[in-house]
Amino acid sequence: MSFQSLHPPLSTASLMPITDRPELVFVSGAGAYLFDSHGQRFLDWVQGWAVNCLGHAPAPVAQAVARQAATLINPSPAFFNAPALELATLLTRQSCFDEVFFANSGAEANEGAIKLARKWGQLHKGGAYQIITFDHGFHGRTLATMSASGKPGWDCKFAPQVPGFPKAILNDLASVEALVGPDTVAVMLEPVQGEAGVWPASVPFLKGLRQLCDRHGLLLIVDEVQTGCARTGTLFAYEQAGIEPDIMTLGKGLGGGLPLSALLAKREVSCFAPGDQGGTFCGNPLCCAAGVAAMTILAQPAFLDSVRRIGNLLAQGLRDLSLALGLGEVRGRGLLLALELGSDIAPRVVEEARRRGFLINAPRSHCLRFMPALNTTEEEVEEGLLLLRGLLEG
Ligand code: PMP
Repeated sequence: MSFQSLHPPLSTASLMPITDRPELVFVSGAGAYLFDSHGQRFLDWVQGWAVNCLGHAPAPVAQAVARQAATLINPSPAFFNAPALELATLLTRQSCFDEVFFANSGAEANEGAIKLARKWGQLHKGGAYQIITFDHGFHGRTLATMSASGKPGWDCKFAPQVPGFPKAILNDLASVEALVGPDTVAVMLEPVQGEAGVWPASVPFLKGLRQLCDRHGLLLIVDEVQTGCARTGTLFAYEQAGIEPDIMTLGKGLGGGLPLSALLAKREVSCFAPGDQGGTFCGNPLCCAAGVAAMTILAQPAFLDSVRRIGNLLAQGLRDLSLALGLGEVRGRGLLLALELGSDIAPRVVEEARRRGFLINAPRSHCLRFMPALNTTEEEVEEGLLLLRGLLEG
């Protein structure tokens, strides 16, 4: 594929084809909208895969990045820097956790969580290393995080897997209890399984998991890469269950669009010694400055109120649409929502939506997922619902 209209004309031949991409090159973005090289405007409810919590090119993040880029980009993780210290303080003040390790992607933060749990198992649980994870869960694309994931087919891709991730069934406490043995060190889950099609873990299940972990001396790890940073209407999704996990990972929205993730732990679990964990780019001031700018906004109570209000508006609009057109369930929390379509038409709907200037995503062939910017307006929600009605009525 080549893009002759670009200057200079560009070809896709030198990029690995890691996913099927449409014949589009996006050149700019503003808030809820993306613009391609022909100047076509798209209402974007994918937002970098739930990454741009404040929309495209948000001024507070852009300004923080420009300022920091002109000041200090990376002194190396062997030294402290002010934005990393500021962001770590902000995150620990806003959560039940005491210590933070910054990384660059959700998968990398989850690798860190797995390592931390295994280290804790070596120190405190006779070398226990198994982490119970869940069917259809998604934790990333490194070997260990693919092994922790329960995505169908991933157990034999790139075999052999990293051992030690027995799979339980979401919202089925007995299925977790049945897997607990002498080698078990932790339970790890997403509070809402996003990539599987937006399946929330119920509040009683999360409370039950906390009790089960306490009973057996296990760590509870929440992967909030997708659900954290205000996406589900509270700063972190675990808050909605009234529990305190031992370890949490964040990513996606944390950097306001920049590559930034975090591993957070309670003090008594935070057992890495110097040399156990690291990475050249980890905690660099450029991405952390973006994180401070984004998280300062996301953590404001009025901002969280508005995520819940707009989320309810979108969910109600989707329910009305489903009722009117005889579609299926609307699921999710805050601004992480899915609509069941009743048949395997989702990929076709996504394609037709794109032709009409609307970006949505199909995590499964029978459902659509919506993850607009968290500061999206009522008017933009109405615009998206109207586009969706046009697509699904046809
Ligand atoms: N965990 C969850 C819950 C995710 O949704 C994702 C990404 N979709 C990841 C981990 C992996 O994050 P990344 O792509 O930044 O490595």
